[in-house]
Amino acid sequence: MPELIPILNKNDIDHMVARVARRISSDYQDRELILIGILKGAFVFLSDLVRHLTIPVKVDFIRVCSYGSDVSSSGNIRLTKEIEIDVTNKDVLLVEDIVDTGLTLSYIVDYLKTFDPKTVKICALLDKHERRSENIKIDYACHEVDKGFIVGYGLDYNENYRNLAGIYHLKL
Ligand code: 5GP
Repeated sequence: MPELIPILNKNDIDHMVARVARRISSDYQDRELILIGILKGAFVFLSDLVRHLTIPVKVDFIRVCSYGSDVSSSGNIRLTKEIEIDVTNKDVLLVEDIVDTGLTLSYIVDYLKTFDPKTVKICALLDKHERRSENIKIDYACHEVDKGFIVGYGLDYNENYRNLAGIYHLKL
């Protein structure tokens, strides 16, 4: 049986999402911000984040598939859902569940830049260092983890565990 080792409970997550939302609200005051959530993993984080923001925002989603093993991405990335809001000359904030190698975000940032946005920044629930291969700047990171496979609060293993309120380390 896989073992779930708690990392952050609902209360910890509420506090860290509120904290990052305060920073974003302050940094983007009087600007027109478009949040782009990366499906599927970021859907829970994004839905909490937008409700903590005190500035008006627009929300869109993008989806990519990466072919690899169950627990690691391969870097072989394919876009399966395009953005639908026009981001040309707009401030864009990408909202990701977890950054591991950074390959997914590098791919998405390159894709977005083809639309000539004014700025593109990154907000990640979790910043996982161990396997980072891309030089990618995470502007807003809620929490850092060294390694391991994380589930809960939107993050899955074979589509399971997304509905857990807390964040866990999955031991297979
Ligand atoms: P990267 O391209 O940065 O290596 O990986 C990013 C994507 O891989 C994330 O959006 C997520 O879908 C998946 N991923 C990487 N590490 C984990 C993890 O620890 N747990 C889960 N559930 N997904 C992960």
